[in-house]
Amino acid sequence: MPIQKKDIPQFKAALLSKRAALVGDSNHLEEEAVRKGKDDAATLDISNFADLGSDTYEQEFDLTMLENQGETLRAVDEALKRIEDGNFGVCDMCKKPMKKGRLQAMPHARFCVSCQNEKEQGGGY
Ligand SMILES: [Zn+2]
Repeated sequence: MPIQKKDIPQFKAALLSKRAALVGDSNHLEEEAVRKGKDDAATLDISNFADLGSDTYEQEFDLTMLENQGETLRAVDEALKRIEDGNFGVCDMCKKPMKKGRLQAMPHARFCVSCQNEKEQGGGY
């Protein structure tokens, strides 16, 4: 069942709270990654080589998280814009309305389930 106009406020609220959480988390992660980077520079000597390795790994992990969060944030912003434009819940690829369940699970989804699958199987963008 496609979403109804009356469902929009509920999705908008979900998107706004997701956005707030993302913005808060990504600020925190960014600080953390920068702080770890500084620690690495300060402790750069041979005796810390093993520790440095794991710190670097951790830092890369944080930055990857940050990147994913940035992408999600962009998707959330786009979804909020689609609400303003009045075409929220329409698949970006086949232009058909998405199922309500899909949007409840992922309010910032750009594609319906079948287009998303096709995209992933087709090897990305
Ligand atoms: Zn589609």
